[in-house]
Amino acid sequence: MANYSGPVCRFCRREGAKLYLKGERCYTPKCAIERRAFAPGMHGQARKRKTSDYGLQLRAKQKARRIYGLLEKQFRNYFDQASNEPGVTGINLLRHLELRLDNVVYRLGLGSSRKQARQLVTHRHFEVNGKLVNVPSYQLKPGDELKVKGSDGVFDVVLEASKVRPVPAWLSFNTDAKSGKILARPERHEMEPGVEEQLIVEFYSR
Ligand code: SF4
Repeated sequence: MANYSGPVCRFCRREGAKLYLKGERCYTPKCAIERRAFAPGMHGQARKRKTSDYGLQLRAKQKARRIYGLLEKQFRNYFDQASNEPGVTGINLLRHLELRLDNVVYRLGLGSSRKQARQLVTHRHFEVNGKLVNVPSYQLKPGDELKVKGSDGVFDVVLEASKVRPVPAWLSFNTDAKSGKILARPERHEMEPGVEEQLIVEFYSR
């Protein structure tokens, strides 16, 4: 998906849920899933058949991958890392995804979508602990500080548009300084609610 440049609303329609991939548009009546709430393609409106366990697990994995905008290999690597750590694999996986630099930029309201946040990171707009970081997958940890480098007016527009999304409790944000801090590792209820991590674990454990 990192290289995918085609229409993304079809992913929401495929998963039957809003994945918020297009920023502001997702909060307006123009949202494709509000207008065409069925799967894309010529058989999208056909009567649904019962989905197998494998089908459910596959959809859960694809949905999470698309929400965070990752390629299969990247996503699998996160899973492997999560399963080798102590604790619950599904929660570990979600934490890795939430603590990516591009996701934190998005959560702080500095990007209207994860895709835009990733682009801002690669365009060298952020410092982490005083050092320039342009790697979207950079893993942050509690105590890390993130700051917008220089005074770029683009963030005023983005911040205004992102007010519909409150900053989660595991992050703090100073609007004037355009800087944020990781206060703690996110707990399950503070992470993406639409992800069914247990099904993802089952998918990779087949
Ligand atoms: Fe998904 Fe956003 Fe497109 Fe709606 S507008 S279908 S939420 S990407």
